[in-house]
Amino acid sequence: MAQLINGKVVSAQIREELKAECEKLKKDYGIRPGLAVIIVGDDPASKVYVNNKEKGCAEVGYYSEVYRLPAETTEDELLSLVQKLNNDDKIHGILCQLPLPKHLDETKVILAIDPKKDVDAFHPENVGKIMIGNYSFLPCTPAGVMKLIESTGTDISGKECVVIGRSNIVGKPQAMLLLQKNGTVTICHSRTKDLKEVTKRADILVVAIGKADFVTGDMVKDGAIVIDVGMNRKADGKLTGDVDFASVEPKASFITPVPGGVGPMTITMLLKNTMTAAKNTIK
Ligand code: NAP
Repeated sequence: MAQLINGKVVSAQIREELKAECEKLKKDYGIRPGLAVIIVGDDPASKVYVNNKEKGCAEVGYYSEVYRLPAETTEDELLSLVQKLNNDDKIHGILCQLPLPKHLDETKVILAIDPKKDVDAFHPENVGKIMIGNYSFLPCTPAGVMKLIESTGTDISGKECVVIGRSNIVGKPQAMLLLQKNGTVTICHSRTKDLKEVTKRADILVVAIGKADFVTGDMVKDGAIVIDVGMNRKADGKLTGDVDFASVEPKASFITPVPGGVGPMTITMLLKNTMTAAKNTIK
């Protein structure tokens, strides 16, 4: 029987700390962390994420602005908004909710955000800093996963760590963060031969594929820590992860549920990055 890693509890603890830090920053320096979120179009999932980001800011006492732009917004309009926010001292973090409508170039928008305000850590300057271990911001989801692993009291050093998925948002930075903690890291993807042979070696298995219930008990080593990043909607509308909880849970030592595992951590880590960005402006 695995112990559940409760993302809601870990997330609530970090938000309490951020709330206290926010008060202190206001009192000591007159700075209130500010986050600007831009959403273009009306993708339903993106709308929910943006609303939750706005609520998260209110909960910890941050200033926030949300720009809800129509789907037909032009690239020039979007880029000039980003430029305006880059120059706005009230705003310490800027985030453009992805995916963008097809006619807008996501790379151009990411490059336009001032790296000092890039709280998603998607700008190549911040990605590069993560590679060399000298960073201000960590990408939110992988950083949240690290906090969850930390909450188990496990020392990552020397452990076999397997990450399934190599996206720029999750898999690749996740592998880098585990490596920085001295894990022995293997990254798997859709071309990996004999995936099960690799995953069965993992002391720590992080799964970020986007396929419901893909990882089954026979792919997991006894006593492994299993972190499920996946968020998939079933036909009945219920949220499910990439890990088949029923068959994996009896083998794992620790496991994250979906929902209630990695999900609650992502926005919390965004709030943490916004705090860092605000503190970095102290002269
Ligand atoms: P993505 O960009 O689609 O990447 C998926 C990765 O999975 C790719 O690297 C792909 O390999 C690999 N893959 C696909 N099929 C595979 C297979 N049969 N065997 C091994 N690897 C396979 O997805 P993502 O953005 O990283 O997201 C992954 C999941 O995490 C999604 O469910 C997403 O919704 C969720 N997510 C959750 C949060 C959160 O806050 N909880 C945040 C971000 C993402 P190739 O590179 O070879 O194609």
